[in-house]
Amino acid sequence: MIANPYQTLLGLVHFDARLLSLKKEAERLKREEKAIEQKIALVHEAVKGAQDSFNEVRHFLAQIDLEMAALSAEIERKEHVAKQAKSNKEYTALLHEMETVAARKPVLSEQWLEAAQQVEQREREVHEVSLRAQKDEATLQSQLQEIRELSRECDEHHAQLFDDRKSIASAVKPEWLAQYENLHSRLENPMVQVTNGTCSACGYKVPVGDLNKIHRQGLVSCQQCRRLLYDEQVGAQEGGEGA
Ligand SMILES: [Zn+2]
Repeated sequence: MIANPYQTLLGLVHFDARLLSLKKEAERLKREEKAIEQKIALVHEAVKGAQDSFNEVRHFLAQIDLEMAALSAEIERKEHVAKQAKSNKEYTALLHEMETVAARKPVLSEQWLEAAQQVEQREREVHEVSLRAQKDEATLQSQLQEIRELSRECDEHHAQLFDDRKSIASAVKPEWLAQYENLHSRLENPMVQVTNGTCSACGYKVPVGDLNKIHRQGLVSCQQCRRLLYDEQVGAQEGGEGA
């Protein structure tokens, strides 16, 4: 059975609707892919943040170590000089200097202890964050793979349908096709259903004369949005202009 021209045109309309929904699905998948990639980047950032903050306190601890070593060397040097003091006065002065230097020791020790505790704590944090990140990333990577697979299938399906479109369009009455394609170059839905006597795209009330023409399987444009109008039930009927 050969479809009449109206049914052939509606076939193209429905086909384009499928193509459009596939295109939207492909776009949605791409957005989802990007969102997962961003989540993975955040996971990496969290690990790097913990690592940086660990390195920071470790660096601080190393600095205190250096300062303590310098302090000890300074005291030792002064002790050595004091042993060779030529007068009591000189000896007392050196002793006083040594005491001043040594007074810094407990302050540094306290700082060292505090820093060492922080190093330990941040090391634990790095460990915890890394473990969590590993788990999160494994989940996200498998989601990403799944989405990419779906996305690839969707693109392939779309490309395949897009190829089929040529032959479907070529069966449509040329003057109808020209009108339809002209609108289609600007609109996602160039031909829409009439529902309860109104254009389903813009809600414009279709005049009775136009409704009658649609019922005879004629081509009618919405007077407000210029889209072509159709009626599914009319399309299901045999007859009309091309029967
Ligand atoms: Zn309209």
